[in-house]
Amino acid sequence: MSNLIKDASASSSLDCPVVDGRRQVQHVPAREAEVGGIPIHRVLPSRQRRLVGAWCFLDHAGPAVFKGDSRGMQVGPHPHIGLQTFTWMIAGEVLHRDSLGSEQVIRPGQVNLMTAGRGISHTEQSLPDDPQLHAAQLWIALPHAHRDTAPRFDHYPDLPSWQEAGATLTLLVGEFAGRQAPTLSFSPLVGVDLAAERDAALTLPLVPAFEYALLPLEGEPTLEGEALAVDELAYLGRGRDAMELALPAGARVLLIGGEPLGEEVLIWWNFVGHSKAEIAEAQREWEAGGERFGRVASFSFEERLMPPPLPWKG
Ligand code: MN
Repeated sequence: MSNLIKDASASSSLDCPVVDGRRQVQHVPAREAEVGGIPIHRVLPSRQRRLVGAWCFLDHAGPAVFKGDSRGMQVGPHPHIGLQTFTWMIAGEVLHRDSLGSEQVIRPGQVNLMTAGRGISHTEQSLPDDPQLHAAQLWIALPHAHRDTAPRFDHYPDLPSWQEAGATLTLLVGEFAGRQAPTLSFSPLVGVDLAAERDAALTLPLVPAFEYALLPLEGEPTLEGEALAVDELAYLGRGRDAMELALPAGARVLLIGGEPLGEEVLIWWNFVGHSKAEIAEAQREWEAGGERFGRVASFSFEERLMPPPLPWKG
């Protein structure tokens, strides 16, 4: 993440227009990038859409099978501030280590959540026993009032999961359809994985005050008759109390949503902040190797990932 993104809520409306009685969907294509040796599709942030609730970053990694000498995803020590990193694993196994001493393998059906708050550093590595990867990696911006919260790491191996009309729904965070996920969050938001074992037609309840988006991960879902494409975010905006979603057998889609954050968010490299000064200070401290971001045991100081120079003066 090397581009500076400033949330321009004014230029990206939270309310999709209604045309001929139908609320329009904004289609936001992903761009290709690479993380730790793995090609990914980066969906958020983009020029057309910066935030969905507090969700400020969304990478779709895989599905990929590692061949030859590939060791899969290998991301060395790097810092974060002002966000929660959120990993939803669909296939493969990744080992997370951080400067708090956490060491946790994440497996399919599980969420890893790292709350960076005022500062943490971590590593992520595919494990050789399962040479594949399919995952969604997201960041959740911490609201200004919580930006300096103490860093922590949480692993969620058991999330609410249920069957509905031929699909398996898993609640990753927040409340949905009368269920509640255990996942720690600092603003009202929701994340749901929907995977169809057979052709499924679903009516899903929504909260009108939330904005929502769908990201097809596999197959070709249809939203109220409109085909959606893999790795193209379908932004639904606010003001809906339900949606009709059709999933052909084998399709999988990620639903994210939340109360509009209502704050300006700056993203630079692995930092999320509310001011350039805050981000510049974090970058200086990481470059200097100070105490703020700690150390990930079993990695050397030299293996740290370093940011590009700040894109502004000062
Ligand atoms: Mn990270």
